[in-house]
Amino acid sequence: MANSMCESCLMPFSKDPGVRENEKYCSYCFKDGKLVGGDDLKAFQKCSYDAMVAKGTNPLLAKFFAWSVRFAPRWKK
Ligand SMILES: [Zn+2]
Repeated sequence: MANSMCESCLMPFSKDPGVRENEKYCSYCFKDGKLVGGDDLKAFQKCSYDAMVAKGTNPLLAKFFAWSVRFAPRWKK
């Protein structure tokens, strides 16, 4: 699979407004040389939900996106 979306939050790179530091992750998930959020999926989901709502995403949609984060390669155990 070609890397066209973040392996941590599944956001398409085409929607990433920032500058990516890592080719596998978006500019939100990989900052200052490391992955944001450690290995706590629940905390990460809450962070991404809050960030999306803060940016004006519909809360229901944000909930769905945050839920779907669990399927990202980063969180596969
Ligand atoms: Zn990401």
